Amino acid sequence: MDLGKAGVIAEGEALESSAPRVGYRVVVVLLRALLIAFLSFIILGICMAAGAYRGIIDDTPEISDANIMPMGFASFIYDRDGNEVRKLNSVNGNRVSVSLDEIPLNMQHAIVAIEDSRFYEHNGVDPHGMIRAVIVALSSGFSRSEGASTITQQLLKNNVFTGWMTETKTQRIERKIQEQYLAVELEKSLREAGEDPKAVILENYLNTVNFGNGAYGVQTAAQTYFGKNARDLTLSECAVLAAIPQNPSQFNPILYPEENASRMHTVLEYMLEQNYITQDEYNEAMSDNVYDRIKENSASVSTEEEVYSYFVDELISQVKQDLMAQKGYTEAQANSAIYSGGLKIYSTEDPAVQSVMESEFTNPDNFPEGSEVGLDWALTVDKADGSRVNYSREMLQTYFQEQGDENFDLNFSSQEEAQSYVDQYKAAVVGEGDTIVAERISFVPEPQACMTVIDQSTGEVRGIVGGRGEKTGSLTLDRATDSERQPGSTFKILSTYGPALERGEITLATTETDDQFNYSDGQEVKNSDNTHHGTMTVRKAIETSNNVIAAKLITQITPEVGYDYLTRLGITTLDSDKDTTQSLALGGITNGVSNLELTAAYAAVANKGVYNKPAFYTKVTDRSGNVLLENASSGTKVFKESTAYLLTSAMEDVMKAGTGTQFQMEDTSIAVAGKTGTTDSYKDLVFVGYTPYYTCGIWTGYDTNEELSENERQYINTLWTNVMNRIHEGKAAKNFAVPGSVEEVSICSQSGLLAGTGCPVSTEYFAEGTAPTTVCTQHIPTPVPTAAPTVAPDITQEASQGADAGTYDGTNGTGEDSGAGTGGNIWQTIQNLFGGGDTSGTDTETGQ
Ligand SMILES: [Zn+2]
Repeated sequence: MDLGKAGVIAEGEALESSAPRVGYRVVVVLLRALLIAFLSFIILGICMAAGAYRGIIDDTPEISDANIMPMGFASFIYDRDGNEVRKLNSVNGNRVSVSLDEIPLNMQHAIVAIEDSRFYEHNGVDPHGMIRAVIVALSSGFSRSEGASTITQQLLKNNVFTGWMTETKTQRIERKIQEQYLAVELEKSLREAGEDPKAVILENYLNTVNFGNGAYGVQTAAQTYFGKNARDLTLSECAVLAAIPQNPSQFNPILYPEENASRMHTVLEYMLEQNYITQDEYNEAMSDNVYDRIKENSASVSTEEEVYSYFVDELISQVKQDLMAQKGYTEAQANSAIYSGGLKIYSTEDPAVQSVMESEFTNPDNFPEGSEVGLDWALTVDKADGSRVNYSREMLQTYFQEQGDENFDLNFSSQEEAQSYVDQYKAAVVGEGDTIVAERISFVPEPQACMTVIDQSTGEVRGIVGGRGEKTGSLTLDRATDSERQPGSTFKILSTYGPALERGEITLATTETDDQFNYSDGQEVKNSDNTHHGTMTVRKAIETSNNVIAAKLITQITPEVGYDYLTRLGITTLDSDKDTTQSLALGGITNGVSNLELTAAYAAVANKGVYNKPAFYTKVTDRSGNVLLENASSGTKVFKESTAYLLTSAMEDVMKAGTGTQFQMEDTSIAVAGKTGTTDSYKDLVFVGYTPYYTCGIWTGYDTNEELSENERQYINTLWTNVMNRIHEGKAAKNFAVPGSVEEVSICSQSGLLAGTGCPVSTEYFAEGTAPTTVCTQHIPTPVPTAAPTVAPDITQEASQGADAGTYDGTNGTGEDSGAGTGGNIWQTIQNLFGGGDTSGTDTETGQ
C-alpha cells in the first residue's frame, strides 16, 4: 500500500518536474478550449433543439384555422330549387351532429372515465399521463405505448392533424409536439372566448370519434348499433360505445362482442371508481345482455352504395379544383372537405333537364341497331420469375393483329365475344406459376355519345351526360368533360365568322368566292362535296358550311386572331404553337375539345356575346353556413351584342335550310340556331344548337375513333331533338331578340349590295353603320316587250316559292330573310320567271 502511494507521488513529481512551463500552458489552453467547445456544443445543441422546437411550433396550424369541428360529416348536394339531390359521404363521413345536451351524461362520463380520467382538471395536456406513458414505453423497451393523449389532443389529432395515419416517425414526433402545444392553446382560447372549453371539446370529440363499423360520431353509432338516438342510450349501451374508440376494429361489438364486453366492463369499473355511477347502476349495467340487441339491430343495417350521376361527378371535380385553386387546399384536404366536411353544395342542376337527358341516353331505341361492345381491360401479373408485368387492352389489340387479324379492333359484337378474346389473350400470356394480381374489365356500348345543356344567361350547367347506357360506377369516364374530340365545322363560327364580323372585316351580306384555294403549306381546301360553288354571301357560306370561304376568312383575319377568340371563349385545349394555323377555321386542331367547353363557347354567342365559365354550382358553404366558394361571375364580353345576333341569325338559317335541318324541333314557335360539325371519315359528329332558353351540345362517335357507319350518323339528331323537345315542353314561344345595335336593310341577295331595280331582294341584318351604301346595278332587267304585266296571282306565288327553294334548298323556306316578303316585287317576279333560276344549283348542301 505504502509502496503504491509513494509510487504515485513519485510519478507525479516526475511528471511535474519533467514538464516544461510552456507545455503545461498548452495543456491548460487545450483543456480550456475543449471545455469551451464542449459547452458551446451543449449550448448549440440546446439552441438547435429550441430552434427546432420553435420551428415546429411556428408550423403549428393557427388555432383559428385549426377547426376542431369533426371532419366526418356527410356533405349534401342541392339542385337549383334547393332540393337535396344526394348525400356525399366517405367511409368516415356519415356523421350526424348532436349537441352535448342531446348526449346522455353517462355517455360523457363513460368516455372520460376510460379515455382521460383527469379531463375535467387538466389544461389540455396531462403531465401525469405523459410521465406514465414514458415509464411504460421505457420499461417495455418501446414495445408498448400507453395512450398518453388527452381527449383534447385526440380531438386535434382527428380533426386538425388529419394526415396522422400516413406520417413518418419524424412527422409523428413533430405532430405530437404541435398537438400538445395546440391542446393548451385551444383550451386557453376557448376560455378566453368565454366558452366552457371542456363542454366544447367533449361535444366535438363525441361527434368526431370512430365507433367502428363505419359509424362516426355518437349519434350515428347509436343508430348503427341500437337503432336509437344518442339521447336514449342506456348506461350499458354508453359503456359499449365508450369501449370502442381505443381500437375500433378490435372492439367492434358486432364482430367481437367478447372483446368489447371485456373493455366495457372496465369502463363501468372506472365509472364506479370515479364516482360517476352507483353500485346499483353498475350491477344493473353489468347484467344487461346488450350484445343480443346489437346483433338484432345490425342485421338491418344496409351499406348499399349509390352511383353518382355524371352531373354529380363533374360537380365534385369542380368543387375540388376550386377548393384547391381558391382556398389553397391540398387535394387530400379538398377530398376530405367534400366527402366528410359537412359541406352544402348548391348545384346548378335542373333535375328535370338532367333526368330527361339520362332517360334519352339510356333508351336503346335512340341508338343504332346492332351496337357494338367496347372493351376496357387491364391485367397485372406477378410472373413466376418474380417480375411484375402489366397488360393493357392496346397490347391485346396488337397481339391479335400480329396473329394475322389486321383489322382487329377493340369493338366486339357482344360481351361474350369480347370476353372470349380476353380469355384467349390471358391464356397466351399468363403461364404456369404466374399469379394474377389484379384485373379490370368493363364493357361499354359503342358508338358513344355525350351532351351538355347550359342555361346561357348564367353559364349554369343544367344537365350533363357523359355516355350512353346505364351508368355503372361513380367518377367513371365522362366523355362530355374528359374526352377531347375534334369539333369540326362548329369551330367556323367561333374561330372565324365571329371574329371577322366583330372586327368589321365582313358583314353577313359580304360576298366571298368559293373556288380553288390552298393553305399556305400547299394543301388544297376541299368542301365536303368536293366541288366549288362560286360566289355567295357570308350568310350562305355559314348556312352551307362552306370550307373554302371559312379558310379564306381566317387567312384574312389571321389564325392568331382566331386562336385568341377561341381562348377567350374558354377553349383550354388548344396548342399555342401548332393550332395557330389556317386549319383552325375548320376545327382541325391538335388535341380536340371537350363537349362541355364547346357548348359553353356557343352559350356565349347565345348569351349576346358574353362568355361565362360553365358553372356546376352557385355556392358552397361549410357546416356552419359560411360561404366557401361562390360562382357569381358576371361573365366576359367576347363579342358585341350585334355580332352575337348576326351569328345567331345566320345559324337560324342553318337549322331551316342548311346543314342543321335534321335538328329542327317540334315546337317551331321557339327560335333555334345551331351549327353542325363533322370530321374526316365521320369519326366525330358534333352539333351545338340553342334556343332563347338553352344551349345544347352533343358529340357522337366511337371511343376508339372508328368511323361511324352510314346508319350510325342519325342518332345524333334523335338524341338532340328528343332532349330539346322535352326540355322545352310548356315553354312560351320566343324569338331571339334583335338588339338595338342591329338594323334591317333590304339588299340584293346575290351581290350583297343595297337592293336595286330587279334584284332578288332579301332582308339582311347589319351591325349599325356597316350596311352597304352602294346600290346593286347588276340586275336591272332588259325591257321585255310583250310580257303581260298583269301576272296572275298564283304564278306570282309559285315564282316566289321558286326563289325560296333556290335560297333554302326547298325545306321550310319561310324564313325571315330572302324569299319571304319579296313576293310583292314585280321585277323580282319577272326576274324569277325569266332567269331567276341562276341562284338554284349553287345551293346544294356542301356538307357539314
Ligand atoms: Zn342585285
